[in-house]
Amino acid sequence: MTPETVPPRTAVIGAGMAGLTCAAALRAAGGSVTVFDKARGPGGRMSTRRLALTEGEVTFDHGAPVFTARDPGFRAQVALWTQAGLVAPWSAAGEGAFVGAPAMNAPLKAVAAGLEIRCGVTITGLARIGDGWVLEGPDESDLAYDRVVLAVPAEQAAVLLVAANDAFAALARSTVSAPCWSLMLVFSRPIETELRVLDGDEVIGRAFRDGHKPGRSGGEAWVIQACPAWSRDNLEAGPSDVATRLLAAFETRMPTPLPPPLSSVAHRWRYAQPEPLALGALWDPAAGLGVCGDWLDGGDVEGAWRSGVRLAAQLNAADARP
Ligand SMILES: Cc1cc2nc3c(=O)[nH]c(=O)nc-3n(C[C@H](O)[C@H](O)[C@H](O)COP(=O)(O)OP(=O)(O)OC[C@H]3O[C@@H](n4cnc5c(N)ncnc54)[C@H](O)[C@@H]3O)c2cc1C
Repeated sequence: MTPETVPPRTAVIGAGMAGLTCAAALRAAGGSVTVFDKARGPGGRMSTRRLALTEGEVTFDHGAPVFTARDPGFRAQVALWTQAGLVAPWSAAGEGAFVGAPAMNAPLKAVAAGLEIRCGVTITGLARIGDGWVLEGPDESDLAYDRVVLAVPAEQAAVLLVAANDAFAALARSTVSAPCWSLMLVFSRPIETELRVLDGDEVIGRAFRDGHKPGRSGGEAWVIQACPAWSRDNLEAGPSDVATRLLAAFETRMPTPLPPPLSSVAHRWRYAQPEPLALGALWDPAAGLGVCGDWLDGGDVEGAWRSGVRLAAQLNAADARP
């Protein structure tokens, strides 16, 4: 892009790791970017739930509990976040495990801070009109952009791609994500155990003692993730029924009886972790349509980051061409 060129207006749908990473790289290259997300705030599957108790605030990483940084580019990014106090290693979850600090969404909140983001807006369709795109949403009918980047889970991308790009829609439809029920628990007093992470069985996939992660204000807070098969079998069960059964399964695994929970809330992730395609990202330059997300690379936090970086590089390269 030369200084006198008007940058194309890009809409990024999805304010998770992939969408925000892509948007930030487009913005850094001088692009005009607006990010949309249906949730109340950015973070996607790296978001954080907060609970105000008389004893103080408790936070739960109810999506991704930890992440790795094997990719050299992502390692460099994580090193910067670590220096800034937004990420910390958490060896209790294994060699090379990281968490956001003081909560999982901290690095994404920092990325989001420099961007124009419209939260609470669900995009329900994409219409190709003239040389651009109009985003369709319940209260937003006139959102016109030159380019669109979709950064949402495969199953949700498939719906939006149906009328936009047949080949991309077919790839999204071919991807299956495992669901996950997550139970957020906080107990009235500490549990007498040194355990920080509990390995899985036929009900529990993993359990994490969130109150003991770096930078947390404390409290005996745990997140119990049901395993994919149990989550799938109980996908339509009620949250309170799920909470009761996961708490009972957790109690059988603990060395001492549990104190009474002060709070117990189950959250269903219908699309938690995909069987990813190894495509990196998708870009249709003629239509100005890009797709990124964990389902195109790795199926995890670092894959989502890589996918966002890769798509932004393709768009920025297209802009740089005379
Ligand atoms: C329970 C659980 C456990 C996990 N464990 C790990 C782990 O241990 N390690 C690891 O690395 N990863 C883990 N992950 C996966 C990791 O969280 C994801 O790979 C990563 O966060 C995906 O980022 P993303 O940007 O691709 O998608 P997302 O974070 O899902 O972002 C997509 C965003 O799009 C928004 N959106 C969707 N549809 C629309 C629409 N129509 N209009 C507007 N907005 C829309 C959503 O609200 C969301 O904010 C886990 C995930 C879950 C849920």
